[in-house]
Amino acid sequence: MAYTITSQCISCNLCLSACPTGAVKVIDGNHWIDPELCTNCVGSVYSVPQCKAGCPTCNGCVKQPNDYWEGWFAHYNRSLAKLTNKKDYWERWFDYYSQRFSEQISQHQSEVVGLSG
Ligand code: SF4
Ligand code: SF4
Repeated sequence: MAYTITSQCISCNLCLSACPTGAVKVIDGNHWIDPELCTNCVGSVYSVPQCKAGCPTCNGCVKQPNDYWEGWFAHYNRSLAKLTNKKDYWERWFDYYSQRFSEQISQHQSEVVGLSG
């Protein structure tokens, strides 16, 4: 199966010049891989698909699944990767709010001590 370009594409154009078969096209401003021209880079001097190798996004160029389950797992892995990336976000969120909460408790305690003193 050929490679395909996903909605993650940021139109950097790197794959246009990287593709050895000229399979990457821009149609109405959208990047697209012609499945008739894409050889998965097999038979070229490259050992890995050049569009995927050079793409600055995680999933801009992906291999089209061969069957339902391959597609299902590809989708699952992409979703999992997104959730994993979000981990940093929630850790930062938690750190920030726990810090703010601690500050407010300290401030409240010092106010209480100030009132009773
Ligand atoms: S896998 Fe290779 S041949 Fe296919 S679009 Fe990407 S760079 Fe071109
Ligand atoms: S290299 Fe990736 S981000 Fe750049 S145009 Fe190709 S698919 Fe889009």
